[in-house]
Amino acid sequence: MRISYFKPGSLEEISELKVQEGSHLFSGGTDLFVKMRYGVFKPKMLIDTKGVRDDPKFDGEKLIIPMNTTYSELLDMGEVMKDFPLLEDAMKEVGSPQIRNRGTPVGNVCNASPAGDFLLTATVMDADVVIAPKMRKMKLKEFVKGPGIVDLKNGEFLYSIEIPRWQGYEHYFEKVGRRNAMNISIASIALLIRFNGDVVEDVKIGFGSVGPRIVMYEDLEERMKGMKLNESLVDEISREYMRRIEPITDLRATKRYRKILVRNLLLKAFHLLKGVV
Ligand SMILES: Cc1cc2nc3c(=O)[nH]c(=O)nc-3n(C[C@H](O)[C@H](O)[C@H](O)COP(=O)(O)OP(=O)(O)OC[C@H]3O[C@@H](n4cnc5c(N)ncnc54)[C@H](O)[C@@H]3O)c2cc1C
Repeated sequence: MRISYFKPGSLEEISELKVQEGSHLFSGGTDLFVKMRYGVFKPKMLIDTKGVRDDPKFDGEKLIIPMNTTYSELLDMGEVMKDFPLLEDAMKEVGSPQIRNRGTPVGNVCNASPAGDFLLTATVMDADVVIAPKMRKMKLKEFVKGPGIVDLKNGEFLYSIEIPRWQGYEHYFEKVGRRNAMNISIASIALLIRFNGDVVEDVKIGFGSVGPRIVMYEDLEERMKGMKLNESLVDEISREYMRRIEPITDLRATKRYRKILVRNLLLKAFHLLKGVV
């Protein structure tokens, strides 16, 4: 089947083309082209967004990542990345140098896979998304509705992601897969925590690959606040995450294995951050 290709030079043109039936946007194509090869998508029209180019920037409070910004470009912003160490750790784990040179955070978010490393960390960091052409803004965690499903109406597309800086927080990121590189995770964790001595002042914990969306439990985060991070708290909290999380069994791992992994990832994170066993 013939596929037409367009590379528009403005946001308005992208929007006009996107309303046409069978059209699909792409930036790096590292998700879309794989899905096309497996017949998941059969587009009639491909819209290459790379004709519109804005640079990523840090305005002192948040990192603004426009569409078409690659992981490599962000990782090259050395000084800025020092303020976003959780994001940096996650991005370094994405694919391979080739994938990081081509793939984009905006593509990762719009692909809306619960295994997406950038999606996990940006959700934990409470990112906002800006939706073109009207530049409507919303929370990333509300934008992603389910696997592959995002809140975009006809003619809309994702313009940028805005990530606040979490100053004074310690962080932890890990993904577990069946091999070390080029891996889709079995489970992953991203964690931000601020201590006053041994007492937890604030905490954000997210898990990837263990549900249809990124899994976060606000009430469990609240329960930890003001508490001393000791063995009994860590034991109680990690058991509760394991009890609640309802992953699926798939080719990569069983439901039971994933549940145990969730508890162990939390135990490992707290042990490495605070030496609690
Ligand atoms: C070998 C390999 C290894 C990988 N390893 C990892 C990994 O370790 N971790 C990980 O998280 N991912 C991984 N991926 C997946 C992929 O590389 C990432 O998700 C990447 O960030 C996708 O970015 P992209 O620009 O290539 O997306 P694209 O493929 O261009 O687009 C992805 C989806 O988003 C849509 N889209 C793109 N731009 C927009 C927009 N502006 N508005 C609305 N919709 C849009 C597209 O239509 C498509 O559905 C891997 C992929 C491959 C092939």
